[in-house]
Amino acid sequence: MVQRGQGVVAQAIQAVEANPYEMFKTQVRLAGEKLGLPPDLLEIVVTPERVLEVAVPVKMDDGHIEVFTGFRVQHSSARGPCKGGIRYHPAVTVDEVKALAGWMSLKCAVVDIPFGGGKGGIVCDPTKLSEGELERLTRRYTAMILPLIGPNRDIPAPDVNTNAKIMNWLMDTATALKGEPMYAIVTGKDVAVGGARGRREATGRGVMIVTQEVLARLGKKLTGATVAVQGFGNVGSVAALLLHQAGARVVGVADISGGLYNPNGLNIPELVEYVGRSPQRLIAGYSAPGVSPIPAQEVLTLDADVLIPAALEGQINERNAKDIMAKVIVEGANGPTTPEADVILEERGRLVVPDILANAGGVVVSYFEWVQNLQYFWWDEAETNARLEQVMRRAFQDVWTLAQEKKVTLRIAAQMLALSRVAEAIRLRGIFP
Ligand code: NAD
Repeated sequence: MVQRGQGVVAQAIQAVEANPYEMFKTQVRLAGEKLGLPPDLLEIVVTPERVLEVAVPVKMDDGHIEVFTGFRVQHSSARGPCKGGIRYHPAVTVDEVKALAGWMSLKCAVVDIPFGGGKGGIVCDPTKLSEGELERLTRRYTAMILPLIGPNRDIPAPDVNTNAKIMNWLMDTATALKGEPMYAIVTGKDVAVGGARGRREATGRGVMIVTQEVLARLGKKLTGATVAVQGFGNVGSVAALLLHQAGARVVGVADISGGLYNPNGLNIPELVEYVGRSPQRLIAGYSAPGVSPIPAQEVLTLDADVLIPAALEGQINERNAKDIMAKVIVEGANGPTTPEADVILEERGRLVVPDILANAGGVVVSYFEWVQNLQYFWWDEAETNARLEQVMRRAFQDVWTLAQEKKVTLRIAAQMLALSRVAEAIRLRGIFP
């Protein structure tokens, strides 16, 4: 049995290095095996329902035309319309988009919101595009994927290198082409054009809530707990601020420009204000009594109760996993821990709250945005936050209970819970025709 487990883990490790979609398939098969699900049902789950590749011709500022490649993948609509972001990046591949779409199906199922998973991407380097080129790229891509997306079919959102402005253009293009308001076709918009109040803070707020939950299960309080946060962007800075406000001591933070350390706790509200005023939104140059600069990577190995990786994937890996001091790791980022590191952390008794649970606050409030858009009924921020809290606490409890029952890690429990919900929906609906 142990032999077999090691084999699957080794397979997963090789797979992630080779191809994220292979990793997704391995994860689903592993969780499916533990659940005793039939292989033909798992075959449905590992195979995306639809994969669309589109050509996106764009008139560039100098007059020449460039043709970009874009994708939209609908992984599963078994539990509801597909939901997932759009990524603009030179390294986008169809297999990456397929994997990300699959993980969205699992994330929506863990928090039990009525969405399946989808994802989109364009192979491009947005840093090399002017504002006008970016807008024309977005509008033409929207037109090309419009046969697939829609409020009741597939609802995009921001992902790496896309933001509210791009979502506003997507909504406006769909509205122009359909001839009717299309607010609910995309989430993550600005509030003035149908975005949800509280969406910007939602992922960080979810991270704060699950941190509170996991510490409570370990018999610890958030008040006075020490926290280190890697990444001080949307997720990291909001999580740090809310944790600070809830009484935690944030002793270290880092972004791409470096790290900061104060064993007595950093003044996070002051730092957030500083970063907000900095032209590139970086912590570089910040100083205060008791604060020492540290290399960015050192934030991961600080002696803190909780570590929150909220930057990029693969940050906790086989090189540094043995040096992680934090007892609890709450994954704000997507995929911050490699499968190899996961094994090392487990052996060293570290508890990892996995990304599909820990950072699901964003998609939960995206769901609330969609509900508000469909009803033309705007909620206030307090209502959004209260409902988010309810969903996150329930999801955490579900995953925790399953992990205890099955004696598995929280990551495997989250995958099992999600997969069981997706599989149940497929089973109950039956196969057409
Ligand atoms: P962001 O661009 O706002 O912030 C990223 C931060 O990471 C920046 O502060 C950047 O300087 C820092 N960073 C980058 N490389 C680093 C390094 N090597 N060391 C230390 N810091 C580094 O992005 P975000 O929206 O906060 O997303 C962060 C992660 O969370 C991503 O994995 C994203 O997929 C995931 N996520 C985001 C949301 C959301 O709602 N924004 C939802 C779910 C998951």
